[in-house]
Amino acid sequence: MFVREICDPVAALTGGKGGAAEKALAHVGVTTIGSLLCRYPRDWEDRSRLAPLKDFRNGQVCSIVRVLAHDWFYSGKTRTLKIFIEDDTARACLVCYNRPFMKNQLAVGNDYLIYGDFEFKYGEIQSNAFDFEPVPAAPDGVGRIAPEQALLGRILPIYPLTKNLRMAKLRTLVRQALDAYLPVIEDEIPQSIRERYHLLAKARALNAIHFPESMKELEKAKKTIMYEELFYLEVMVGKRAQAKRSVMRPAQMEITPCMTRQEPPDLQNMLLDRLPFSLTEGQREAVADINKDMDSPYPMARLLQGDVGSGKTLVAFLAALKAIEKGGQAAIMAPTELLARQHAENAAKLLEPLGVNVAFLTGNIKSKGRKQLLKNLASGAIDVAIGTHALFSRDVWYRDLRLVIIDEQHRFGVMQRQAIMAKGDAPDLLMMSATPIPRTLAITVFGDLDVSVIKGLPPGRQPIVTHLARESNEDKVYEFVRARLRAGAQAYFVYPLIEEGELDLKDAVSMEERLATEIFPEYTIALAHSKMDEEEKRLTMESFRRGDIHILVATSVVEVGVDVPNATCMVIEHAERFGLSALHQLRGRVGRGTAQSYCFLVYSDKYTEDAKTRLMVMLEHSDGFVIAEEDLKLRGPGQINGVEQSGYIRLGLANPVEHAAILEKAREDAFAMLEADPGLLSSDHRCVADVLSRAPPFGDVGV
Ligand code: ADP
Ligand code: MG
Repeated sequence: MFVREICDPVAALTGGKGGAAEKALAHVGVTTIGSLLCRYPRDWEDRSRLAPLKDFRNGQVCSIVRVLAHDWFYSGKTRTLKIFIEDDTARACLVCYNRPFMKNQLAVGNDYLIYGDFEFKYGEIQSNAFDFEPVPAAPDGVGRIAPEQALLGRILPIYPLTKNLRMAKLRTLVRQALDAYLPVIEDEIPQSIRERYHLLAKARALNAIHFPESMKELEKAKKTIMYEELFYLEVMVGKRAQAKRSVMRPAQMEITPCMTRQEPPDLQNMLLDRLPFSLTEGQREAVADINKDMDSPYPMARLLQGDVGSGKTLVAFLAALKAIEKGGQAAIMAPTELLARQHAENAAKLLEPLGVNVAFLTGNIKSKGRKQLLKNLASGAIDVAIGTHALFSRDVWYRDLRLVIIDEQHRFGVMQRQAIMAKGDAPDLLMMSATPIPRTLAITVFGDLDVSVIKGLPPGRQPIVTHLARESNEDKVYEFVRARLRAGAQAYFVYPLIEEGELDLKDAVSMEERLATEIFPEYTIALAHSKMDEEEKRLTMESFRRGDIHILVATSVVEVGVDVPNATCMVIEHAERFGLSALHQLRGRVGRGTAQSYCFLVYSDKYTEDAKTRLMVMLEHSDGFVIAEEDLKLRGPGQINGVEQSGYIRLGLANPVEHAAILEKAREDAFAMLEADPGLLSSDHRCVADVLSRAPPFGDVGV
């Protein structure tokens, strides 16, 4: 059987009594023995050799020590514990920053196995990064006992722990599971591939990933499991690409009954002629890609990436016109009502003069108006529907939905994407993302999508000037903003919270009050956040766009899409609380016209190392792709917008970014296999067919 097929409960290992360990494991989703075996260590400690204290300069110390004494000293205002220890070779001390409770865990007079980095500092051998395990007392209660059996003489797996689950217990459970099931575990990789890369058999790899005999064996096991994960990832991607190629566009209806024209109108060029500017090179290329796809017999599945402000909306409108030229309808879906409304307003301005009928649809539009609107959508009187999730509500029908456009696609889940696609008959799909995904990830996550990238911004844009400011210097920031307001500009002030909360942070509601009464009494200030009534928010945004409101105080609701070119100042307070992609998106709200724009990142003193890195990245970089790469380094791929949601990256060991070289190989192999043997019928590929039918590693995923 395949390891994921082992469905016996973890409790079977402990004789069926559901103890604390089982509960703790269930809490992290591990209920079967199969899933226990697939929960790999997060690290391994090589304790195959003892390394006494005196050799601390050669690498990590691994030694049995006795605790001699506790002492306390002050570092800053906090009392810090210091623990003196010795082994047979030297004395040293452990410095326990923020861990006063260690005084109970490392008791004077007892023996412990210490494992960690030591350095020579202030005249002593010190460590503040160490692990320890108690050494059990000898049966007679005297002397020290060598615990090689359990803790030393081998490489120990370090598992990610959960509450109420001890490492020792977890190790025992995994060992028992391996002993019981290894003999029946089948291979998942075709033999030919295993031989080519000298990969281990699955059972051996599993055993070695948990309890390696040597570091060399561990490396082989890791390579085997990573390859396997990435191979199946790419098999899934390849299979979906295959499936996509087998779907043909349905036979299309005669052209444009709703437009009542003889010739299909060249709507795209009509729009381009009316614009006060021409398309950027990047936009032109994207439109060409899209037109080509929409003219082909296969439905389009394209991801349009472009940095904030690169002009994706216009490309989306041009794509919609193409669908209308062909006699169909287009739906443009955005994640927030604010953004959907903005698109609808722009569409009304740009598309209606061409004779195109645009409708705006959100969950909030009830009553008679909605009924008529739905009728017009079903009859085909409406050409473009723009809205939020409401676009795929149960009572919404389209006459002939040819094109689905999803703006800020990372905000939507796979299910929602499927729901809107189901409203048409194999419609074209254009997904747009302002959070650029690095290439390595893009080919993994969206491996069966075509990708267009809009490089560069429209001409005349000046780089946004970004400043960091300490919270105590906020007055200077306010003064600067005042000067810009006086010159006719508008500003955003963004806060991490809507209302005053338990955290000691500034919030939008209180700050609006303060800014309006104390700081900028001479200007008109308004509030926008997600708890506000939609209608109120709409009116506020409209006034802000018209310039009647000078300062918009907001939360990250303004993060996506909002486009008010005259707003040239962005002040983000508690910038240390925001993630990189949010900061980049927020900064992207300014710099949308030709005037010089400014972004102030005001941070309070309570920031983490990561927050500091994020702020520095924002200061140094403006390119969304670079920022996304940095984000990836800080957070790992699972966290990147859209990746988690796309349902793919649930890999145990491999990291598609870090292990890009293995990924590329796995991709080549998987695609070559599917090309040569699409039905997976050869005996070599049998195991792949079996894995997919009996225990698919990624469940059901689909665009
Ligand atoms: P995003 O890619 O972030 O969605 P938008 O589509 O909101 O960007 O466009 C940002 C701004 O740039 C809008 O005000 C839009 O009218 C303007 N714009 C788009 N294309 C061009 C162009 N080719 N030349 C000049 N301005 C443009
Ligand atoms: Mg946009």
